[in-house]
Amino acid sequence: GDELVQAVHRLMGHADASRRLDVRANADNAEDAARARRFGARGIGLCRTEHMFLGDRRRLVEDLVLAVSPEERERALAALQPLQKADFTEIFQAMEGLPVTIRLIDPPLHEFLPDFTDLSVKVALAGEQADDKDRRLLAAVKRLHEQNPMLGLRGVRLGLVIPGLFAMQVRAIAEAAKAVPGTRAEIMIPLVAAVQELESVRDEARAILTEVGVGALVGTMIEVPRAALTAGQIAEAAEFFSFGTNDLTQMTWGFSRDDVEAAFFSKYLDLGVFGVSPFESLDRDGVGRLVRIAAEEGRATRPDLKLGICGEHGGDPDSIHFCHEVGLDYVSCSPFRIPVARLEAGRAALAAGDSGTR
Ligand code: PEP
Ligand code: MG
Repeated sequence: GDELVQAVHRLMGHADASRRLDVRANADNAEDAARARRFGARGIGLCRTEHMFLGDRRRLVEDLVLAVSPEERERALAALQPLQKADFTEIFQAMEGLPVTIRLIDPPLHEFLPDFTDLSVKVALAGEQADDKDRRLLAAVKRLHEQNPMLGLRGVRLGLVIPGLFAMQVRAIAEAAKAVPGTRAEIMIPLVAAVQELESVRDEARAILTEVGVGALVGTMIEVPRAALTAGQIAEAAEFFSFGTNDLTQMTWGFSRDDVEAAFFSKYLDLGVFGVSPFESLDRDGVGRLVRIAAEEGRATRPDLKLGICGEHGGDPDSIHFCHEVGLDYVSCSPFRIPVARLEAGRAALAAGDSGTR
């Protein structure tokens, strides 16, 4: 009963007093944000915005993809912006001034478009009577088809290719931040591989923030090996780095996150390459080395660079010890993993003999 609850609170208080790593949550809506706070999260380290474009809003995304004139594109974006502003406002309200890192839209474009086979059948069956929008969609789906979508048109590349898409999101973030006083928004750019990509998006974002009259940090995911290897340059244009170790693991090993594991992972276990999947426990020798390089070179450029991790490893005990050793500022993980992350961050600091600075 109450005694047990109090004992757990004392335990967590002890861990919190010891740890140097901050603990944030990955949360994409107000409900998850509130849950994360109940578990003790001190901010949101990753708010993915992809799901905000699904459901009823797919239609608006289709309009955006099908737009053939700047006016049509503007109209589609103008319809999305108030919806996004409402999404972000709710999250900022739930977090009451704790930092919230919002990642600009990331996934492959095809995920928003109808399935090629379904649509082909629909158009073929309708024959002469086929809907014009369906025909145009079918052509777009064909045109956008990629053999390797995870290595294709996603993240910052999508932002560069569709004018106004990132600007719409940044404006929505800025207006929501203005509507919720005390908000600490952080705008995060996904899949950056070169500083020039980041500079381009950062400049556009800064101009919008200035126009709206709110401040927000602008930073980047480090999830492509080239970003880690050029972190010294990238830090010139980033106020924070967040390690996306899901993609970084995929790209460092050349393992598909989505479908390759079952086929040959057991052989790697037999060979002793790893004892646990590198998607679960951070591979210190390879992926970890890239994280170290990026942390060191990033901070050499910008000593106050804020460093976090928001891949699945942010909630994994052994990986949390690694994050402490490398000197990250925070880990971010799913709300349900927060209590263990707090404890493990405390244990890591005690084990390393440098606790209590938080
Ligand atoms: C990652 O790649 O580690 C990450 C956090 O982003 P996502 O899982 O959305 O690709
Ligand atoms: Mg990623």
